[in-house]
Order: sequence, then C-alpha cells, then structure tokens
Amino acid sequence: MRIETGLKLGFKDVMIRPKRSTLSSRSQVSLDRTFTFLHSNHTWTGVPIMAANMDTVGTFEMAKTLAKHKIFTAIHKHYSLEEWDEFIASLPPETIDYFAVSTGTGNPDSIKLAKILNKYPQIKFICIDVANGYSEHFVDFVQQTRKKYPNKVIMAGNVVTGEMVEELLLAGADIIKVGIGPGSVCTTRVKTGVGYPQLSAIIECADAAHGMGGQIVSDGGCKIPGDIAKAFGGGADFVMLGGMLAGHAESGGETIEINGEKYKQFYGMSSETAMNKHVGGVAEYRASEGKTVEIPYRGPVENTVQDFLGGLRSTCTYVGASKLKELTKRTTFIRVQEQHNQVFSK
Ligand code: 5GP
Repeated sequence: MRIETGLKLGFKDVMIRPKRSTLSSRSQVSLDRTFTFLHSNHTWTGVPIMAANMDTVGTFEMAKTLAKHKIFTAIHKHYSLEEWDEFIASLPPETIDYFAVSTGTGNPDSIKLAKILNKYPQIKFICIDVANGYSEHFVDFVQQTRKKYPNKVIMAGNVVTGEMVEELLLAGADIIKVGIGPGSVCTTRVKTGVGYPQLSAIIECADAAHGMGGQIVSDGGCKIPGDIAKAFGGGADFVMLGGMLAGHAESGGETIEINGEKYKQFYGMSSETAMNKHVGGVAEYRASEGKTVEIPYRGPVENTVQDFLGGLRSTCTYVGASKLKELTKRTTFIRVQEQHNQVFSK
C-alpha cells in the first residue's frame, strides 16, 4: 500500500482569477478550435463540446441540433443499423463532421461498428468507450481498431492518469477520454472507491497528451457552465457533457408526468435501467455502477446551449482570451473554500 499526498482538485475547489483584458465584448470571443489529430491526420474545426454517448443524451436528434452550433455528439451505441440508415439519409452534409459512432470492446460491438462504417465510410469519428480503460484487452482493441480504420479519428477511454493516456495514444487513439467517477449518474466511487478528482485528472492527462501531440476530452462532472470553463482552463481540448444536456426535447429516455409536471428519465449507462433495457438485466457477477433519476423537462436544448456558450464567452472576456484556444494559457486557478452564494437556492 502507498499513499499519494499531493493535492488533487475538483471543479468545486477552484475559481478562475480575472485578468486585465482588452476585450470589450463577449461577441469578440471565438469559441471555435481547429485540431489536426495525431494518427488520422484529419483536421476538424468546431466548438469543442461533446454530448455524451449515453442513450439519454447522445441521440440522433441531439446530434442534428448541436451540429448547427458546430458542437459534437458521441452517438450512443444502441441504435440499430436501420436507425442509422434513416439518420444518415436525413442529414445535411455538413453534419458529418460533428458526430462519432460509439462502440464497446465486445465482438458484437465491433461487428456492428464495421457494418456502420462500411456502409457509411464518410463517417470520420469512432468513440471506443469502456468504464475502465486500464485493461490490456482495451489497449489491444484500440490497436486493432486503428489497424482497421487508419483514417478515422479514434477517441478512447476512460482513464485518469498520464501513463495510460500515453499508452492509448501509442496504441492508436487520437483523443483520450478522461474521467473515472465524476459523472452525475455515476456511482463508481460509491461502489468501488475508485476515482480521481476531475480537474487534476484533466491537468495531468492534458499534459501527457499534449506532449505527444494528442488531445483529451474531459468526460463528466460538469454541473454548471462555469465547470466547462474550468475544464478548458485546466487544459481539456474537448469537454463532454451528460447531465447538462439531459432532460431536453432532443434527449432520449421516457417522459413521465408527476403531479401534472413533465419529467424526463436520465440514467447511467451502467445503471440497472440501462442494463435491463439493453442487455436483459444486471449480470450476476457485477453491480450496477449508475443511477436513474427523473429531471424536470427542460424544453429544446437550444436555450441551454446558448446559456453555456454565453457563459464560456464571458469567462474568456474575464481573462482576456479572444479565442477559446488561449483560455488555458490565461487561466490562473485560485484555491477556494466556497463557490457561489446559495442564500436564495431552493
Ligand atoms: P455528466 O456530464 O453527467 O456528469 O457525466 C457524463 C459521463 O458519465 C458520461 O460521459 C460517462 O463517462 C459517465 N457515465 C455515464 N453513465 C455512467 C454509469 O452508469 N456509470 C459510470 N460510472 N459512469 C457513467
């Protein structure tokens, strides 16, 4: 046993210090970023925020709406090939750059991935997602996927430490998904005791990835728009959102009425709800590591998007970053004991 005593931080432990700035308006801030990826050599321009590959978030409807803002969606892996046919047929051409096909590492997953990509070779992004990105089997799968699809942008995870970021980049991934346990409907930390405070995970993993010419996506733990800014400030190239995009018209999941109010169901992809829906129940050897919640219906996602993009532009003006790209360089975090004033919170 060993104890690491270095301080590890989450979003709630810091704030971003304002800095003198020559920017006079939020409208002067560009949130677009352009990346050329390590292996696939593809160049992408957009707002580097991603909808999570959860069946209550990363839906086709979400992808179509978010693509209008050049925001990315990791489409969940549970759509059938027929549903993909319908989606692709309904797409305006520019949308193709703003979504990924997701896969797990099982055989049926990789067969389905091959079917989708063979039929639609114009799709450029693959998201290989497992709860625990530390297994050798996962690294092998990333390697095989890179061999099979040399020109696709491969996003892979999840991990939280620099050495594993490096290993996955060497195995052929372009973007590493970072986050174990911070998610809004995740119970991994409760069930297993395993995890890593998300801001420190971002800082350490971004450092490892950038040293090799790779990128990271911070996955999970953003509760409010300010957290997205902190994730970018810490060095994340992309930020993935689950809960913040759940509960909208474009989100999946049941709509329920309780006392005349509309709610939407939102659940973790390892929750009992998800396992009952997709794999016929929770296998005997495992516990569910996700929960199910009902959230008040939030209407079209458009308003929420405007809200967090506006917040992010404002962060940039507070620190004098005219482009999102400059935000990390201009960020000084201060350690705090309190966040916002909650005197009027319900
Ligand atoms: P959020 O933005 O809601 O805080 O986090 C979203 C992320 O939580 C997802 O992208 C995924 O990485 C993670 N996640 C989703 N479902 C589950 C689950 O059932 N268990 C765990 N451990 N993590 C989950």
